[in-house]
Amino acid sequence: MDMPLRRIDSLVFDNSFARLPEGMHARVRPTPLAGVRLAGVSTEAASLLGLAAPALFDEQAVAWLSGSEAWPQTAPLAMCYAGHQFGHYVPQLGDGRAIVLGEVKTAQGHWELQLKGAGLTPFSRDGDGRAVLRSTIREYLCSEAMHALGIPTTRALCLFDSDEEVYRERIERGALLVRMAPSHVRFGSFEVFYYRGQYARLRELADYVIAHDFPALRDTPRPYLALLREVVERTARLIAQWQLVGFAHGVMNTDNMSILGLTLDYGPFGFLDAYEPGFICNHSDYHGRYAFDRQPSIALWNLTCLAQAMLPLFDADDGDAAAAQARDVLAVFEPTLSAAYAAGMRAKLGLREAQPGDAALGARLLSLMAAAGVDYTNLFRDLGDLQLADSGADAPLRDRFVDREAFDAWAAEYRARLRQEHSHDARRQAAMARANPRYILRNYLAQRAIERAEAGDYAEIEHLRSLLSQPYDEQPAMREYAAEPPDWGRAIEVSCSS
Ligand code: AMP
Ligand code: MG
Repeated sequence: MDMPLRRIDSLVFDNSFARLPEGMHARVRPTPLAGVRLAGVSTEAASLLGLAAPALFDEQAVAWLSGSEAWPQTAPLAMCYAGHQFGHYVPQLGDGRAIVLGEVKTAQGHWELQLKGAGLTPFSRDGDGRAVLRSTIREYLCSEAMHALGIPTTRALCLFDSDEEVYRERIERGALLVRMAPSHVRFGSFEVFYYRGQYARLRELADYVIAHDFPALRDTPRPYLALLREVVERTARLIAQWQLVGFAHGVMNTDNMSILGLTLDYGPFGFLDAYEPGFICNHSDYHGRYAFDRQPSIALWNLTCLAQAMLPLFDADDGDAAAAQARDVLAVFEPTLSAAYAAGMRAKLGLREAQPGDAALGARLLSLMAAAGVDYTNLFRDLGDLQLADSGADAPLRDRFVDREAFDAWAAEYRARLRQEHSHDARRQAAMARANPRYILRNYLAQRAIERAEAGDYAEIEHLRSLLSQPYDEQPAMREYAAEPPDWGRAIEVSCSS
């Protein structure tokens, strides 16, 4: 018997953020895009709403999700926030092109639906309220790929292309992403009320976040401090995961940092191809503030901004005492990140037990990889092929290094370490294949999907989405998608203009 298809109008909305006072958001309607058409649907994201993908193709669903028609149960709004951009405080940013439609309630939880590229809002400043097809495809693919990798992230339900002309360095087509997250509140959402001295608002926001997303903290002795601690820990674990998979966010401004510890606001992001610790994926980041290896320290800097903005909430006798409390909580960041990174690196190396020399073993491999520009993803994946018995079968691995003797020395040490814990080749290989993806969203793969979509063919978007939904599976027929970038693919420049 066929399952009856749940229709889009079966969704139940709550819209809790819209009940917060005006000033924390602005009510605004999406501006329809000319010639809007569906260009991709994430089956997995749809299932989170209890919908099967075909439910999104029906005419009413397209009209509502693209913002072309007002959806009766929703309460569209733009969120107000500020943020530190490249180290400088900007007193008001806010959703300049994203509009929260409303919040879907399901038995498993709540999902805020947000339309990115839905037109002007009171926070648009000089912007046009639009997002271009290129950046929309990148965010759509990457958020779903990150989720499949096991990394906390906002999700992407679907994306729309249109005939609307949008002016960037060239004329491009306007597009729209339907993004979902339990909440889109950012560090900058707190900063805006702190710097305006609106402490009652600040408290209201914190109370909302606790009630909405951290209900267990409500009954702790110091809920606001506990909230900060939760954000510190989640962010530390998130950044460890970014570093382990080789993901560079590109614009880690405090307005792009999620209070839930999700990867948020995909702009000029990039995955490492060749391992390069100082990799800068954002072409507009002239000083490398957001270089790959600076992400941990930048995350802590951003958390310090959040802690500063939360100081008035802490139950303390004076400012110094509040600051001391905040510092104690911030001190949790480094050990949390280090522990998460160490555990993750052990898994990547196929080590079951923790040993004192493990960090150094991993670091030595990384420095050999950096010296030779070895492909990060492929090296770790293929390292699973190494056998305990040194039968000279390492050639395909060692040939990737410039200093092959140095690799041999490292491999000898690695084997000795594996023998110590009685590692078993086949079992280790299977475990390493669960820790090291075969497929990631390399820039050149995204670029190919973008070029085809710009020519009107969306098939490659779905093809990539589906491939990257199983990044740890070998998928032999798809092996060309694991290839290192061709020369043109290394030179792709991605900037903030999207
Ligand atoms: P982003 O760098 O994309 O995180 O955006 C930083 C700020 O600029 C946010 O407040 C955005 O809403 C706003 N913004 C970015 N692009 C546009 C646009 N095309 N129109 C209006 N606002 C934008
Ligand atoms: Mg942003």
